[in-house]
Amino acid sequence: MRGLFEEKCKKLVNSLKLQGIIKSKEVENAFLKVPRHLFVPEDLVEDAYIDAPLPIGAGQTISAPHMVAIMLELLELKKGQKVLEVGAGSGWNACLIAEIIGEDGKVFTIERIPEIADFAKRNVEKAGYDNVEVIVGDGTLGYEPAKPYDRIIVTAAAPIIPEPLLKQLRRNGILLAPVGNRFCQELLKVVKEEEVKITKHGYCVFVPLVGKYGFPSS
Ligand code: SAM
Repeated sequence: MRGLFEEKCKKLVNSLKLQGIIKSKEVENAFLKVPRHLFVPEDLVEDAYIDAPLPIGAGQTISAPHMVAIMLELLELKKGQKVLEVGAGSGWNACLIAEIIGEDGKVFTIERIPEIADFAKRNVEKAGYDNVEVIVGDGTLGYEPAKPYDRIIVTAAAPIIPEPLLKQLRRNGILLAPVGNRFCQELLKVVKEEEVKITKHGYCVFVPLVGKYGFPSS
C-alpha cells in the first residue's frame, strides 16, 4: 500500500483509535496491513477509506470499517486459532482475521452467492492470504468438515443465532452475530462455557442472512 491510500488508511485508523473503537495493537496492525481498497470494486477505490459500507455487487456490501473493528475487538482473536466467518462478501474481514491469527491459524469463510464468493476469492488472492478458504454455501448450516471452531463471526443480519453454529463452536469459544429483524439488529456476543453466556454490544444494520436458519430469500 503506497502514497495516497496509505495516508488515507492511517487517517481512518487514527480516527477509529481516537473514537475508542480500535483498542488493541493487533486490530490496528491488521487494519494497516490489509488494504481495504483491494476489496472494493474498481470504481470505488477512491472511497475505500471512508468509514461507510460500500456496494460490492448483487445487492451486497463490504461492511463499514468501524463495524468491522468493533467485531474484531470483541472476537478476542489469538494466534493459531481456527475461525469460521459466515458472509465472505469482499473477503476483507476474513483477511483481517487471517492477519491477526497468523500463518498457524485458518479462516473458513462461507458465501451464499457464487459471484460474490468469486469476488472474495480473487481479493484474498490479491492480498496474498494462504490461510483463508472461501466456500460457497449456506453458512447458517456452518461448515461441518472443519469443526470445531475457536471463533465464529456472522457478518449478515440473523433472525436467531443459528443452532448449527453454536454446535460447531468449541467449548470456551466466542460467537458474534447481529441478531434482529431485516432492518435493525443488536450485536450479540456468545461465550460457550458450561452454559452459554450472551452479552449485547449495540445496535447495527447488516444485509440479511438468507438460509435455512436465516431469513427466507424473498
Ligand atoms: N464480511 C464481509 C466483508 O468483509 O466484505 C461483508 C459481509 S456482507 C455485509 C454479508 C454477506 O453475507 C453478503 O455477501 C451475503 O451474500 C452473505 N450471506 C447472506 N446470507 C448468507 C448465508 N446464509 N451464508 C453465507 N453467506 C451469506
